[in-house]
Amino acid sequence: MRDILPVNGVFEMMQLPYAADALQVISVGTLSFHHGKHLKAYVDNLNRLLPGSGLEGKPISEIVKQSEGGLFNNAGQVLNHVMYFEQFGTEHHEPTGKMLEMIVRDFGSFEAFKKEFEQKGATLFGSGWVWLSLNGEGRLVITQEANAGNPLRSGLTPLLTFDVWEHAYYIDYQNRRPDYLSALWQIVDWQVVESRL
Ligand code: MN
Repeated sequence: MRDILPVNGVFEMMQLPYAADALQVISVGTLSFHHGKHLKAYVDNLNRLLPGSGLEGKPISEIVKQSEGGLFNNAGQVLNHVMYFEQFGTEHHEPTGKMLEMIVRDFGSFEAFKKEFEQKGATLFGSGWVWLSLNGEGRLVITQEANAGNPLRSGLTPLLTFDVWEHAYYIDYQNRRPDYLSALWQIVDWQVVESRL
């Protein structure tokens, strides 16, 4: 995964790598709140809580692994949202090459993988994230993380994530979380996912 470093001690807001109206299955309204308000608040809180923590100047991955409480919640949400927003795009919506080989090896097929990923996202109780990660043996695993959780904390390498906090889908899908999850496959850029291996 691409780590994030503070600039002069401050974490900056990421810019979306696509136009706000490019994703279709996520509306401009959702993006403007989710990126412009929710992520902005996590970035601001992280920068407010960092001084005096002993983790100043560290990359986000180290803060996520080493912090607790409010600092962890905000650092985790910054990293999770950057990974979420950066993995979408208008191209490469099917895994190929090494990524496809690994998915077929560990889940049987791309269809079987998507089904398990959606099911784990749909059954996560409350707020959190469903993740595809690489484990220490080089195998792909799907995990559920509550709230700001990130698989880095369990020694995994995170590759792909769907946000299942209601703020991620309520404007567009209301309570239909499964519909939101199945729609996201239309915008995942698998070249970005593979680059995180
Ligand atoms: Mn979110």
